[in-house]
Amino acid sequence: MVTMSEKKPKPIVYSIEECKSCNVKTKRPFQMGDYIYKDDVGECKECHGKTLISMIYSETPKPT
Ligand SMILES: [Zn+2]
Repeated sequence: MVTMSEKKPKPIVYSIEECKSCNVKTKRPFQMGDYIYKDDVGECKECHGKTLISMIYSETPKPT
């Protein structure tokens, strides 16, 4: 009789940018057009080298 309208947290998709020079990884929210091994997506914070996307994954926020 009761309609369960339980709110489930939406998974958040992240892209991991990896520096091609020093391999520092940066996690950032997924953006439209991202795909794995996409090149020249940004600049490394550490060495200002070019980064590529090494991984895309989703995380479900833990309910608090
Ligand atoms: Zn770097």
